[in-house]
Amino acid sequence: MYMKLCFRKPKSSDEACKINVQKKNNAMRKAFLDVPFNERVIFVPHCLRNVSKCRAKEMGSHYICLECGACKIADISKKSKELGYKALFILKGGKAVTKLAAELKPKGIIGVACYFEGEQGMKESQKHKIPVQFVALTKDGCVDTNVDLNEVFKTIRG
Ligand code: SF4
Repeated sequence: MYMKLCFRKPKSSDEACKINVQKKNNAMRKAFLDVPFNERVIFVPHCLRNVSKCRAKEMGSHYICLECGACKIADISKKSKELGYKALFILKGGKAVTKLAAELKPKGIIGVACYFEGEQGMKESQKHKIPVQFVALTKDGCVDTNVDLNEVFKTIRG
């Protein structure tokens, strides 16, 4: 069955999304920093995976990274475990945020995504009153995307 995995909007909407998510990041930073590592979860997008080599376990709306090392998610996963984070999930789309936030009840969320998905995810997290910090992809699209690991690690350690 066909499943739409990329919900990106045209580039013209990116600038407005960028301004919105930066404002939200700033507004929620202090509340997020007060959350201990073991109460935080990290959501990363499926498009960061190396699809041809990925061994991640599929779990319906998301995947669990098995740290094969073929993409940057392995580095993010290892760092999050080292610091004692509650969990890291690879999301197939923004709707998984709602499901996982309801199930896991994290007190803080880090979301890695394109600006459009990031803004949607932040809205969902705010409905659950969970402080979020967003890290934008440096190369977006629906496959073979990229992120600055230093930016991600800075947010994870914050
Ligand atoms: S590191 Fe994880 S997400 Fe990346 S390709 Fe390997 S199993 Fe998949």
